[in-house]
Amino acid sequence: MIFANVIVDISHEKLDKTFQYIIPEHLQEYIRPGVRVDIPFGKGNRIISGYVVEVTRTPEFEIDKMKDIISVRLGSKPIESQLIALAAWMKEHTGSTLNQALKTVIPVKQQVNAKENIAISLAINKKEAESLYNCYINRKNTKKRAELIKFLIENKEIDKKQAVAKFDISDSIINSMIKSEIIKKSASQIYRNPLILEKATYENNVVTLNEEQKNVVNSIENFIENEDTRPHLIHGVTGSGKTEVYMELIDYMLKRDKQVIVLIPEISLTYQTVMRFYNRFGDNVAIINSKLSQGEKHDQFERAKKGEANIMVGPRSALFTPFTRLGLIIVDEEHENAYKSETVPRYHAVDTAIKRAELADAYVILGSATPSVISYNRAMEGRYILHRLSKRAKGNDMAEVSVVDMREELKKGNKSMFSEELDRLIKDRLDNNRQIMLFINRRGYANFVSCRACGIAIKCPHCDVSLKYHNDKILRCHYCGYEVKAPDKCPECGSKYIAPFGTGTQKVEEAVKKRYPEARVLRMDMDTTKGKDGHNKIIEAFANNEADILIGTQMIVKGHDFPNVTLVGIIAADLSLYASEYTASENTFQLLTQAAGRAGRGEAQGNVVIQTYNPDECCIQAAANQDYEAFYEQEMAFRKMMNYPPGAGMMKIQFLSENEEQVKELADKVYKEIKNYNNRLTIIGPSRASIYKLNDVYRYMIYIKGNEELFKVQDVIDKTLDEKYNEVIIMYDYENI
Ligand code: ADP
Ligand code: ZN
Ligand code: ZN
Repeated sequence: MIFANVIVDISHEKLDKTFQYIIPEHLQEYIRPGVRVDIPFGKGNRIISGYVVEVTRTPEFEIDKMKDIISVRLGSKPIESQLIALAAWMKEHTGSTLNQALKTVIPVKQQVNAKENIAISLAINKKEAESLYNCYINRKNTKKRAELIKFLIENKEIDKKQAVAKFDISDSIINSMIKSEIIKKSASQIYRNPLILEKATYENNVVTLNEEQKNVVNSIENFIENEDTRPHLIHGVTGSGKTEVYMELIDYMLKRDKQVIVLIPEISLTYQTVMRFYNRFGDNVAIINSKLSQGEKHDQFERAKKGEANIMVGPRSALFTPFTRLGLIIVDEEHENAYKSETVPRYHAVDTAIKRAELADAYVILGSATPSVISYNRAMEGRYILHRLSKRAKGNDMAEVSVVDMREELKKGNKSMFSEELDRLIKDRLDNNRQIMLFINRRGYANFVSCRACGIAIKCPHCDVSLKYHNDKILRCHYCGYEVKAPDKCPECGSKYIAPFGTGTQKVEEAVKKRYPEARVLRMDMDTTKGKDGHNKIIEAFANNEADILIGTQMIVKGHDFPNVTLVGIIAADLSLYASEYTASENTFQLLTQAAGRAGRGEAQGNVVIQTYNPDECCIQAAANQDYEAFYEQEMAFRKMMNYPPGAGMMKIQFLSENEEQVKELADKVYKEIKNYNNRLTIIGPSRASIYKLNDVYRYMIYIKGNEELFKVQDVIDKTLDEKYNEVIIMYDYENI
């Protein structure tokens, strides 16, 4: 017998409140997650409708007492159906529970204080408002109302709480004005995200596309006309005008009465980017970011559902916008690591976007100057359609990039963090009132040990990734667990300049201030961007020429357009190169290419200086030459040889527990079970995670290389678990499957 778990009230806070029904035989072929069904409910067996969230063979209570599903509503495909089906897919593909997936996909309305964040605006037209103002201002008891009306005539809207404070008016007066339909509540203040859009004006900006851009737009439109639903990948160099291409295609979709989701990495969701969409599409754009409260986000989604806004711009969670006429999903900077959720369910926005589009009969466009190796590989295999933008849109040249060998600087006796060349160029820019960005590449940065004389880093002999330096002076591989004592002399050249490598933004700032005391310096990193709007403030200050030098981590290289920046210095390119992950080269290539793309976006030619101990490393050379293909060829060869994605799929299993013994025991046991289950799988580990103990929790990892068969591994593990290991949490993660 087969049973269906049915959810009857999707707006309920507890999405896990499901009811189980028998699926009668004649309905079995139609029932799957997301399908809408009619069921008898409660004592009186009143017929109500619900959604199937799960199909199972396990009865949850006595079958005798269980009722049958009455009928299935085929044909209609309400948005809830699509989202539930998406959640079911996510459960399957990320190893989360169904409830976790549902909660991610269907943001339920939480109990929010209704008074919070209500904006008010005029409910009457301007003329009426003016005459009402004239009437109110001359009466004794209504002066405050008059002032409020005047304000609303001039400023359109105001936050309700703010109005109470500003005009010293009482809540009840405002409420009575709402009742008499002089003013109304409006949600717009919320979606406008006051921080970002307070100065916004709608300009209907449209640029004329260049030939290359037009070709891409035409080509994609053609595929859409022919209902070819393969995803598109736009590989466009930095500054090639990808955003303009997106906007043209958004326009095309709106004209077909369709809705569009635009994913932008959180860090690039700045005033500058958001304004470009707002200037072109005005209030048709809704924006979410992770700083919105659940309630605010819910309001945005409500607007989208009602069709009041047809374009949703936001980070990966914008994927779940309940558009009923979704036509297109755009994923900008598709290579960004931020598209992979760090919390359960650990979904990847690109794959999830493709699935969502499939369920909605919509299209997908991915764009990047440095596509992920996985995506580019799919394009090479014809699963995605590749488009290229090879020139900068404004016709300016790419920056001139030079690679400086820091080993040579050491030989010359220069032990500072600035090479001669970078030093010379910094001085030149300061003299000429141009701006400079200094970038410290800390992504995925793990303490590794490297030699300043010859440049090598100590690697795992089995996995070809850098070993991580631990405080006990042991180097460990966090894929396979290999260990070795940290050497005190370079095993390659014998130099004593071998040590844990590292530098921080603060150190660079100190050095800059000492060496260029006249320069005005801004620093952007986790510490300086803590406040609600910290990130934007620094970006704006720099854009307004309030500083000569901006020092920062990868945060500064994302999608910002500073026309006066003509020099980008990359202080330590190698930090991410030796991150102990198989994607280290890819991340390095992306960061260097994106950083280089920041220079010379205005009229003047830009320079980029990459300082490195590994000038011959392929990803550094390729980034310097802005040669994506060269990088891809080399990297693909490595991935294929080592069976890393996309050479194969990979499953990551994490074991977490405060009980160190149990977590190790279970990891070992699971390893054996998987080996028994299929001895052709390549299983690596168990090994300690790169951060072994965090908040008193010990972590072990197992990696398995393979393909679809890896989804089955979860069932194998489920069978291994018994009560004894109750304290151990297991998390799954799939890549490229
Ligand atoms: P990308 O997203 O590829 O980095 P953008 O879309 O940000 O590129 O474009 C880079 C700059 O070029 C922006 O300032 C943009 O306004 C400008 N631009 C893009 N396309 C055109 C065009 N066809 N004509 C003039 N300027 C353009
Ligand atoms: Zn050496
Ligand atoms: Zn290893």
